Amino acid sequence: MFDFGYLSYMKYIVITIDGPAGAGKTTVSRMLADRLSYKYIDTGALYRGIAFEAKSAGLAYDDDAGLETLCSALNMKFVRNENGTRLLSGQSDITDNIRTPEITMFTSAVSARPVVRKYLLDVQRNMGREKGVVFEGRDMGTVVFPDADVKFFLDASVRTRALRRYKELAHETGQTYKKVEEDLNQRDKNDSTRTMAPLKPAEDAVIINSTEHSAEEVVEFMLSHI
Ligand code: C5P
Repeated sequence: MFDFGYLSYMKYIVITIDGPAGAGKTTVSRMLADRLSYKYIDTGALYRGIAFEAKSAGLAYDDDAGLETLCSALNMKFVRNENGTRLLSGQSDITDNIRTPEITMFTSAVSARPVVRKYLLDVQRNMGREKGVVFEGRDMGTVVFPDADVKFFLDASVRTRALRRYKELAHETGQTYKKVEEDLNQRDKNDSTRTMAPLKPAEDAVIINSTEHSAEEVVEFMLSHI
């Protein structure tokens, strides 16, 4: 395997992959981490975890005092078991609860609250201490790891991204393509216009448009850049 070639001369580094919903970040980040024998951290899952816990506790998205108390009592971590990577909140496995359309839209609102971003900043930086990690999110290269060794910003056309999401979601949620595209546009707007850590490429990020490319092609390009 050529992968050993990469590993033999590469120091362990932090790689960030930011971009809007549906750009293919999760697929590509997982594949890249596998090829490099790195860990992979899906930071969107952490924001979703907080949103899920907040919703379960009956909090409004803008109840900053309530969110602060909730975050201070939270203990979320990723574990790998026979079912893949799972997100635990305390003892509960919440992996299957955080991807519903309702939680997705609530996450977009909750993640704009500075109190939530401040809490997750430390959590994420602690996860990056060991190096040898691919971080996927919205502000990994701009705010959380401004000194990351390699930064990518993955984008694709709205139509391509909405179609990808629709194919993933339609059979589980019954959402129409139109609704999927509307939600995606709303999330893009929320994520890129919020005051704190808006979605945007870091100045030193390599921008990749995946509209016309498969995940494999994107990963090969990333490896050659790394
Ligand atoms: O990546 P994913 O679509 O699962 O992220 C869900 C939501 O979490 C995003 O729409 C965004 O509002 C928020 N998020 C964020 N910063 C990150 C990762 C996700 O604000 N680093």
